[in-house]
Amino acid sequence: MRLTRRRLIAAMGAGAASAQTPRPLDLSQFEPRSTLHVKETAVPRARFPVIDFHTHLSWGDPKGEKADIILPPAQLLTVMDRRNVKIMVNLTGGYGRGLDECVAALAKPHPDRFIVFTMPWFTRVSEGGYARFQGGEIERAHRAGARGLKVLKSLGLVVRDKGKLVAVDDRRFDPMWEACGALKMPVAIHTSDPEAFFTPIDRFNERFEELNAHPDWSFHGKDYPSDRELQEARFRVLARHPKTTFVVLHMGTAENLGYIAAAMDRYPNMHVEFGARIGELGRQPRASRQFLERYQDRVLFGTDAVPKGDEYPQQVFGDKLYEIYWRFLETADEYFDYAPARVPPQGRWKIYGLGLPDGVLRKIYWSNAARLLGLPS
Ligand SMILES: [Zn+2]
Repeated sequence: MRLTRRRLIAAMGAGAASAQTPRPLDLSQFEPRSTLHVKETAVPRARFPVIDFHTHLSWGDPKGEKADIILPPAQLLTVMDRRNVKIMVNLTGGYGRGLDECVAALAKPHPDRFIVFTMPWFTRVSEGGYARFQGGEIERAHRAGARGLKVLKSLGLVVRDKGKLVAVDDRRFDPMWEACGALKMPVAIHTSDPEAFFTPIDRFNERFEELNAHPDWSFHGKDYPSDRELQEARFRVLARHPKTTFVVLHMGTAENLGYIAAAMDRYPNMHVEFGARIGELGRQPRASRQFLERYQDRVLFGTDAVPKGDEYPQQVFGDKLYEIYWRFLETADEYFDYAPARVPPQGRWKIYGLGLPDGVLRKIYWSNAARLLGLPS
């Protein structure tokens, strides 16, 4: 570097145009190493015990026949104990016999370590009498040991009836939302996706590399609703079912905290969780800290952890994942990676720690989720 510069300066002195012509560089080959000398705080254990409210330890079987537990509980527990994660909530516990098997594999043998949620039978949405069937299934799942309901982003983006996308606020789900309220089962709902997934995959897209590698993650064009339409449909559900507690996963839209804050003010039954969104929160640390402090009683800790999920480096269950979350929430470190990956997987930027006070940490790590799940705070 110094030699080149010296040569350039020398060349300028001699009156030459330039010593070197710029070379093109393929974006995929670009791996800049930061030259900032900044503080690096290792946080191996969370400062207080943690409930990870957003994990996928099994994927619900669409037919409702079996459970496929990705890692044996013993392997999960060693990481949890090392990192101070007391409880993992497996949101995708499925339904039918699959749910029974999932409860038997995780929650029954380790009632103080694993909690299982159920899911709607979207495969049956076109059948007559679905609304009543689905309401009844929530009661059955509750008896089977499910402690809440998870709604995947497929509602609004994938689930179809006679070719048409089923809306998030479709009336057929009303008995389901009501049953959750009556049984005090929180609803963990994922609606829409990052804003960049709704815009063209082109040079202006800040998540170009991610979408270019996974074009099927894009919801731009075709008959997809816009991000805003999806968000609004979900808010209509919250408004229509005030006695049901909703946990809006991934912050709803982590790119627009002002919009989500306004919704938090409108809907007292709304909570948020920030799994797989510390990349967004961490690049706007002042706004994020303000949000988390203001709504400290309605924010839940979650990671969206998936054992063995190699397509999503930002959510592979393991020691590294949790260490990054602790560092982000507990320290004031600056300019560090939000995921253990060669290139930042959700966009080429780094994050800044929030340095949250102990009182806020305790609520986000534990008490808010404990209250919703009926556990001691
Ligand atoms: Zn998830």
